[in-house]
Amino acid sequence: MTTSPARAPFSVCVYCGSRLGKQPAYLALAEALGTAIGRRGWQLVYGGGRAGLMGAVADATLAAGGRVVGVIPESLMTLEVGHAGLSELHVVGTMHQRKQMMAERSDAFIAMPGGIGTFEELFEVWTWRHLGYHERPLGLLDAAGYWAPLLAFLRHSVAQGFMGDDQMAMLHTAADAESLLNTLFAARSSTAAADFNKI
Ligand code: AMP
Repeated sequence: MTTSPARAPFSVCVYCGSRLGKQPAYLALAEALGTAIGRRGWQLVYGGGRAGLMGAVADATLAAGGRVVGVIPESLMTLEVGHAGLSELHVVGTMHQRKQMMAERSDAFIAMPGGIGTFEELFEVWTWRHLGYHERPLGLLDAAGYWAPLLAFLRHSVAQGFMGDDQMAMLHTAADAESLLNTLFAARSSTAAADFNKI
Protein backbone atom coordinates (compact mmCIF):
# COMPACT_ATOMS: atom_id res chain seq x y z
CA MET A 1 0.00 0.00 0.00
CA THR A 2 1.35 3.46 -0.82
CA THR A 3 0.69 6.49 1.30
CA SER A 4 0.74 9.97 -0.17
CA PRO A 5 2.98 12.48 1.58
CA ALA A 6 1.27 14.73 4.12
CA ARG A 7 0.18 17.99 2.52
CA ALA A 8 2.04 21.02 3.85
CA PRO A 9 -0.26 23.38 5.71
CA PHE A 10 -1.32 26.59 3.95
CA SER A 11 1.52 29.01 4.68
CA VAL A 12 1.08 32.71 5.25
CA CYS A 13 4.06 35.04 5.14
CA VAL A 14 3.61 38.01 7.47
CA TYR A 15 5.67 41.17 7.15
CA CYS A 16 5.30 43.52 10.11
CA GLY A 17 7.03 45.90 12.46
CA SER A 18 10.01 44.96 14.59
CA ARG A 19 8.52 47.62 16.88
CA LEU A 20 5.11 47.64 18.57
CA GLY A 21 3.92 51.03 17.33
CA LYS A 22 2.16 53.56 19.50
CA GLN A 23 -1.39 52.23 19.62
CA PRO A 24 -2.57 49.05 21.36
CA ALA A 25 -4.62 48.21 18.25
CA TYR A 26 -1.44 47.14 16.44
CA LEU A 27 -0.48 44.54 19.02
CA ALA A 28 -4.10 43.35 19.24
CA LEU A 29 -4.15 42.86 15.47
CA ALA A 30 -0.85 40.94 15.50
CA GLU A 31 -2.21 38.62 18.17
CA ALA A 32 -5.51 38.18 16.31
CA LEU A 33 -3.69 37.30 13.08
CA GLY A 34 -1.36 34.79 14.75
CA THR A 35 -4.27 33.21 16.63
CA ALA A 36 -6.32 32.91 13.42
CA ILE A 37 -3.41 31.28 11.54
CA GLY A 38 -2.79 28.84 14.39
CA ARG A 39 -6.46 27.92 14.87
CA ARG A 40 -6.76 27.06 11.19
CA GLY A 41 -3.80 24.68 11.53
CA TRP A 42 -1.92 26.86 9.04
CA GLN A 43 1.73 27.89 9.06
CA LEU A 44 3.28 31.31 9.65
CA VAL A 45 6.41 32.28 7.73
CA TYR A 46 8.11 35.42 8.95
CA GLY A 47 11.42 37.16 9.59
CA GLY A 48 12.36 35.06 12.62
CA GLY A 49 12.73 37.85 15.17
CA ARG A 50 11.16 38.12 18.58
CA ALA A 51 10.91 41.91 18.70
CA GLY A 52 7.78 44.01 18.26
CA LEU A 53 4.78 42.86 16.25
CA MET A 54 6.92 40.13 14.66
CA GLY A 55 7.39 38.32 17.95
CA ALA A 56 3.72 38.84 18.85
CA VAL A 57 2.42 37.20 15.64
CA ALA A 58 4.81 34.27 16.09
CA ASP A 59 3.93 33.74 19.76
CA ALA A 60 0.18 33.91 19.05
CA THR A 61 0.45 31.41 16.18
CA LEU A 62 2.40 28.96 18.35
CA ALA A 63 -0.01 29.41 21.27
CA ALA A 64 -2.95 28.57 18.98
CA GLY A 65 -1.27 25.38 17.75
CA GLY A 66 0.18 26.56 14.42
CA ARG A 67 3.63 25.97 12.98
CA VAL A 68 6.01 28.90 12.67
CA VAL A 69 8.90 29.11 10.21
CA GLY A 70 11.41 31.91 10.81
CA VAL A 71 14.06 32.94 8.32
CA ILE A 72 16.70 35.30 9.62
CA PRO A 73 20.04 36.49 8.28
CA GLU A 74 23.11 35.68 10.35
CA SER A 75 23.80 39.36 10.96
CA LEU A 76 20.45 39.88 12.73
CA MET A 77 20.76 36.57 14.57
CA THR A 78 24.07 37.61 16.11
CA LEU A 79 22.36 40.69 17.48
CA GLU A 80 20.43 38.11 19.55
CA VAL A 81 17.04 38.97 18.20
CA GLY A 82 16.23 35.52 16.81
CA HIS A 83 13.17 33.78 18.29
CA ALA A 84 14.29 30.58 20.05
CA GLY A 85 10.93 28.77 20.26
CA LEU A 86 9.94 28.35 16.60
CA SER A 87 9.00 25.15 14.74
CA GLU A 88 11.82 25.94 12.27
CA LEU A 89 14.42 28.70 12.38
CA HIS A 90 16.59 29.08 9.29
CA VAL A 91 19.70 31.21 9.66
CA VAL A 92 20.78 32.30 6.17
CA GLY A 93 23.74 34.27 4.86
CA THR A 94 22.11 37.31 3.32
CA MET A 95 18.93 39.39 3.32
CA HIS A 96 18.31 38.34 -0.28
CA GLN A 97 18.47 34.64 0.60
CA ARG A 98 16.13 35.32 3.48
CA LYS A 99 13.47 37.03 1.39
CA GLN A 100 13.73 34.36 -1.30
CA MET A 101 13.26 31.57 1.23
CA MET A 102 10.37 33.38 2.92
CA ALA A 103 8.66 33.72 -0.47
CA GLU A 104 9.35 30.11 -1.50
CA ARG A 105 7.83 28.77 1.70
CA SER A 106 4.64 30.88 1.48
CA ASP A 107 1.28 30.53 -0.28
CA ALA A 108 0.15 34.10 0.50
CA PHE A 109 1.62 37.34 1.85
CA ILE A 110 0.31 39.84 4.40
CA ALA A 111 1.76 43.19 5.41
CA MET A 112 0.69 44.44 8.82
CA PRO A 113 1.63 47.83 10.26
CA GLY A 114 5.39 48.28 10.26
CA GLY A 115 8.23 50.49 9.09
CA ILE A 116 10.77 50.53 6.27
CA GLY A 117 11.54 46.80 6.51
CA THR A 118 7.85 46.01 6.13
CA PHE A 119 7.42 48.50 3.26
CA GLU A 120 10.38 47.04 1.40
CA GLU A 121 9.13 43.47 1.76
CA LEU A 122 5.58 44.37 0.69
CA PHE A 123 6.66 46.30 -2.38
CA GLU A 124 9.15 43.64 -3.38
CA VAL A 125 6.69 40.74 -3.27
CA TRP A 126 4.04 42.90 -4.99
CA THR A 127 6.51 43.79 -7.77
CA TRP A 128 7.47 40.11 -8.17
CA ARG A 129 3.78 39.33 -8.59
CA HIS A 130 3.28 42.09 -11.14
CA LEU A 131 6.29 40.88 -13.14
CA GLY A 132 4.95 37.32 -13.14
CA TYR A 133 7.53 35.62 -10.91
CA HIS A 134 4.71 34.20 -8.79
CA GLU A 135 0.91 34.20 -8.68
CA ARG A 136 0.39 34.14 -4.92
CA PRO A 137 -2.09 36.56 -3.36
CA LEU A 138 -1.07 39.44 -1.13
CA GLY A 139 -2.87 41.75 1.23
CA LEU A 140 -2.62 44.68 3.61
CA LEU A 141 -4.02 44.14 7.08
CA ASP A 142 -4.95 47.43 8.69
CA ALA A 143 -5.46 48.66 12.24
CA ALA A 144 -6.27 52.18 13.42
CA GLY A 145 -6.23 53.41 9.80
CA TYR A 146 -2.44 52.96 9.64
CA TRP A 147 -2.36 52.13 5.95
CA ALA A 148 -4.90 54.78 4.83
CA PRO A 149 -2.25 57.40 3.83
CA LEU A 150 -0.34 54.77 1.83
CA LEU A 151 -3.52 53.63 0.06
CA ALA A 152 -4.34 57.27 -0.75
CA PHE A 153 -0.86 57.73 -2.21
CA LEU A 154 -1.16 54.53 -4.25
CA ARG A 155 -4.49 55.75 -5.69
CA HIS A 156 -2.74 59.03 -6.50
CA SER A 157 -0.09 57.04 -8.37
CA VAL A 158 -2.82 55.28 -10.38
CA ALA A 159 -4.50 58.64 -11.12
CA GLN A 160 -1.16 60.03 -12.31
CA GLY A 161 -0.58 57.12 -14.63
CA PHE A 162 2.36 55.45 -12.85
CA MET A 163 0.40 52.44 -11.67
CA GLY A 164 -2.38 50.45 -13.26
CA ASP A 165 -5.74 49.41 -11.80
CA ASP A 166 -4.59 45.84 -12.41
CA GLN A 167 -1.68 46.39 -10.02
CA MET A 168 -3.93 47.89 -7.36
CA ALA A 169 -6.32 44.97 -7.74
CA MET A 170 -3.51 42.58 -6.72
CA LEU A 171 -3.42 44.11 -3.24
CA HIS A 172 -6.30 42.89 -1.08
CA THR A 173 -7.07 45.02 1.98
CA ALA A 174 -8.93 44.32 5.22
CA ALA A 175 -9.04 45.42 8.84
CA ASP A 176 -10.01 41.99 10.10
CA ALA A 177 -7.58 39.05 10.20
CA GLU A 178 -10.18 36.32 9.56
CA SER A 179 -11.65 38.00 6.51
CA LEU A 180 -8.24 38.73 4.97
CA LEU A 181 -7.18 35.09 5.50
CA ASN A 182 -10.41 33.92 3.86
CA THR A 183 -9.85 36.24 0.90
CA LEU A 184 -6.23 35.17 0.40
CA PHE A 185 -7.09 31.49 0.70
CA ALA A 186 -9.88 31.86 -1.88
CA ALA A 187 -7.42 33.64 -4.20
CA ARG A 188 -4.62 31.08 -3.75
CA SER A 189 -2.68 30.08 -6.80
CA SER A 190 -3.49 26.74 -8.38
CA THR A 191 -0.49 26.85 -10.70
CA ALA A 192 2.87 25.15 -10.19
CA ALA A 193 5.40 26.57 -7.78
CA ALA A 194 6.93 29.88 -8.71
CA ASP A 195 10.60 30.05 -9.56
CA PHE A 196 12.12 32.59 -7.23
CA ASN A 197 15.60 31.67 -8.50
CA LYS A 198 14.89 33.77 -11.59
CA ILE A 199 14.52 36.95 -9.56
P1 AMP B 1 10.38 47.22 10.21
O1 AMP B 1 9.03 47.30 9.56
O2 AMP B 1 11.33 48.28 9.69
O3 AMP B 1 10.35 47.15 11.71
O4 AMP B 1 11.01 45.86 9.71
C1 AMP B 1 10.31 44.67 9.93
C2 AMP B 1 10.48 43.72 8.78
O5 AMP B 1 11.86 43.69 8.40
C3 AMP B 1 10.06 42.32 9.19
O6 AMP B 1 8.98 41.83 8.41
C4 AMP B 1 11.34 41.49 9.05
O7 AMP B 1 11.27 40.58 7.98
C5 AMP B 1 12.47 42.50 8.85
N1 AMP B 1 13.19 42.80 10.15
C6 AMP B 1 13.47 44.02 10.62
N2 AMP B 1 14.09 43.97 11.83
C7 AMP B 1 14.21 42.68 12.13
C8 AMP B 1 14.77 41.97 13.24
N3 AMP B 1 15.30 42.60 14.29
N4 AMP B 1 14.72 40.63 13.24
C9 AMP B 1 14.19 39.99 12.19
N5 AMP B 1 13.66 40.61 11.12
C10 AMP B 1 13.65 41.93 11.07
